[in-house]
Amino acid sequence: MKSMTLFYNLKTKEIMKVLKFGGTSVGTPDNLRMVRDILSAGKKEKQVCVVSAFGGVTNLLHECSDMAASGDESYQQLLEKIEARHLETVKELLPVKNQSGTLSTTKILLNDLEDIMKGIFLIGELSPRSLDRVLSMGETLSSTIIVDFLNSEGITTAWGDTGSMIKTDSNFNNAIVDFSVTDQNIKDFFENSVDLVICPGFVSSNSQNVTTTLGRGGSDYTAAILAAALDADTFEIWTDVSGMMTSDPRAVSSAHPIEKISYQEAMELSHFGAKVIYPPTIQPALNKNIPIKIKNTFKPEDAGTTISADSNGSKQFVKGLSSVKNIALLNLSGSGMIGIPKFSFRLFKALSEAKVNVIIITQASSEHSICVGIDANDVAASKEAIEEEFQFELSLHKVNPLEVEEGLAIVALVGDRMRDHVGISGQMFASLGENGVNIKAIAQGSSERNITVVIEERHLRKSLNVLHESFFLSERKRLNLFLVGIGNVGGTLIKQIAEQREYLSENERVDLRIVGIANSKKMYFDEDGIDLTQWKELLTGSDQDMDNQGFIQSIQDMNLRNSVFVDNTASEEIAGLYNDILSKNISVVTPNKIACSSSYEKYQELKNTAREFKSKFYYETNVGAGLPVITTLSDLIKSGDKIRRIEAVLSGSLNFIFNNFKAGANFADVVRQAGKEGYTEPDPTIDLSGVDVMRKILILIRESGIKAELSDIKSDPFVPADCMAATDVEDFYSRLENHNEHFQTLLSNADKKGARLKVVASYENGKASVGLREISKDHPFYILEGSDNIVLFNTSRYEHQPLVIKGAGAGAAVTAMGIFADIMRIANS
Ligand code: ADP
Ligand code: ASP
Ligand code: MG
Repeated sequence: MKSMTLFYNLKTKEIMKVLKFGGTSVGTPDNLRMVRDILSAGKKEKQVCVVSAFGGVTNLLHECSDMAASGDESYQQLLEKIEARHLETVKELLPVKNQSGTLSTTKILLNDLEDIMKGIFLIGELSPRSLDRVLSMGETLSSTIIVDFLNSEGITTAWGDTGSMIKTDSNFNNAIVDFSVTDQNIKDFFENSVDLVICPGFVSSNSQNVTTTLGRGGSDYTAAILAAALDADTFEIWTDVSGMMTSDPRAVSSAHPIEKISYQEAMELSHFGAKVIYPPTIQPALNKNIPIKIKNTFKPEDAGTTISADSNGSKQFVKGLSSVKNIALLNLSGSGMIGIPKFSFRLFKALSEAKVNVIIITQASSEHSICVGIDANDVAASKEAIEEEFQFELSLHKVNPLEVEEGLAIVALVGDRMRDHVGISGQMFASLGENGVNIKAIAQGSSERNITVVIEERHLRKSLNVLHESFFLSERKRLNLFLVGIGNVGGTLIKQIAEQREYLSENERVDLRIVGIANSKKMYFDEDGIDLTQWKELLTGSDQDMDNQGFIQSIQDMNLRNSVFVDNTASEEIAGLYNDILSKNISVVTPNKIACSSSYEKYQELKNTAREFKSKFYYETNVGAGLPVITTLSDLIKSGDKIRRIEAVLSGSLNFIFNNFKAGANFADVVRQAGKEGYTEPDPTIDLSGVDVMRKILILIRESGIKAELSDIKSDPFVPADCMAATDVEDFYSRLENHNEHFQTLLSNADKKGARLKVVASYENGKASVGLREISKDHPFYILEGSDNIVLFNTSRYEHQPLVIKGAGAGAAVTAMGIFADIMRIANS
């Protein structure tokens, strides 16, 4: 009795470690040397190491058997490739003197494989049983080669025949383990084994010793079965990423490893597509309360993820997101279903008998319909089974014909602590809705550990990124920008963005990417973000001609989250596309005044569309360039203030012209000068006709809540009608010269009164007007310099002293800055 206790104590002193290395980790000789180093570092412990087939080999074996079964003789070439891969690995890994033994065992195995494959070819059939025999060869080959490699490196290693130890039923390709026999076999084998044993993963056998397999990805499970049977102290899964990540790193580039996660959370995530761990792996470890560590073979120093009973250490309500592609929804509905309890039972029985795995279920409380999500490959089998089961009810029209919708995907949010927090599903639906993702079905378990939605598969990547951004606070919000019009303002905007990107990423956690640019000739796109150091060359060299509709179509086709269309043109055609753009959940930012100053109906339609589709429509630079005129006005209105009077100088170009027009000067020369300095439109009549100012005051009064049209704005022309009748710009200048006296008279009349000339827009008592006014010394407009703008708002709250906004009202730098600010408002919304 005493000696038994002593023996027991000695055993518990030994640290038992189970490790598993996946396909990529053992995929090349270089990678295998890293595996060797990891195993050497653990030599003080007793190590049981499960390995996968060399990366990609299982898929190749599958492909090869399919070819053979279909009578395609070129399976032989593929087989030769598989053979060469293994033989070359042996030659590269082992010193020449040690190679012959390994080469001959490897060749024996490969000959076996050749024979099986030939059999499949001759019979022209691939049964699940033969497939398991073929696929098992991947792990048998890799594990035997690795044993010889480690021994040749002086690390004493034995091979453990897990294929014989793990006993299953005869459900080939996805066998169920008989734990009572298996656990005992494992204990017996390892009782006297050496300190390092390499075992093939994935492979098992039935009671007649026929090879079975544990399902694709099953090497993880093999390791878990061993860890549980041996009461392992440590269980590590070594793979090609640094742990279980917040989302699939191939879909979400900012996904990051989760430090700690509970068994249940890991189970949910893996069940819904986090391929990093094969779902059945968790159960054996959970039963024995053995923590699972997921580690990166290529970055062993990274902490990785610990899966254990305790998930705390994180305040994160949502732990991770995962997804499953290729989903179909089946919807069974009909009046005959109401209140008949056996209905759902019969539906699930039919599906279960057809061996269809139901992934999600939703049922409305009226019980009028049941909706199930399944793998799209199971649609035909499901349809047949359901139609047969409900044949009678279908014939009586008590049940409607089964509705099937394909091309779908599942996205799931997972976290034990989601139940402690209200509003998570609301946040999930809102983030998806704002990005135009329609939710087809929703399921939430009562444990609230998982919220699952079904969406169209084409939206999957965008959805994962949107949700990742929304739920992981450390996240940078990415905006994808599409710019048309790359002139003075557009070019300056690109420069400003290029200069500020790093600052915004660091300080505002906003990642601005320009994904599309266009001028009137060319357009250019780069989904990963255009290199802003050479956007000009990229645009000029682009092989895509600009086409407005085509540009918008490309934005839609890319289907990126947080897409923003920035229109820096003055084009009426492009302004005409805003409604369509906004209805595709793409936001619009623009200095182009045409849309907001066209008919009131159009203006209102754009606002409504933006509201309905949760896209943003911002146009601060329509008035006063970068000055915060529209946002201020909107804040006043939203907070309940009433606008009584607006008085404003809203044209930087006209202000520049009248400030520089002195007694004796030629008015036409001053206008020319303003043009040269970039203050006027290329066609100065747009400024001098007063239309530009009329549009601006119209936008301001509309923003104040007044329903008005451009024709409601009274305008007193100050340029003689003869000038406005000019046929082109040069003609306009020569006509201006002829009328210089008219302008001199206007100036001297003002001078006599000690006043200055300003083009003023005003609004009071429902009436707005624009005209040239003589501004006396005591008026705030008198000292308005250069191209400045000024706006005075008299409101119920700013009753005696108006609220004043003043500053540069024209110029590329300030206009670009105003557009930039609108873009940032979208980023922060
Ligand atoms: P192994 O061959 O080592 O078993 P797998 O290819 O089966 O590796 O699983 C690792 C891969 O799982 C990663 O390379 C990654 O692309 C993918 N993956 C999907 N979802 C996740 C996730 N949430 N966390 C980590 N990896 C994930
Ligand atoms: N080699 C098998 C597969 O690729 C098992 C595994 O690697 O886990 O599915
Ligand atoms: Mg795997």
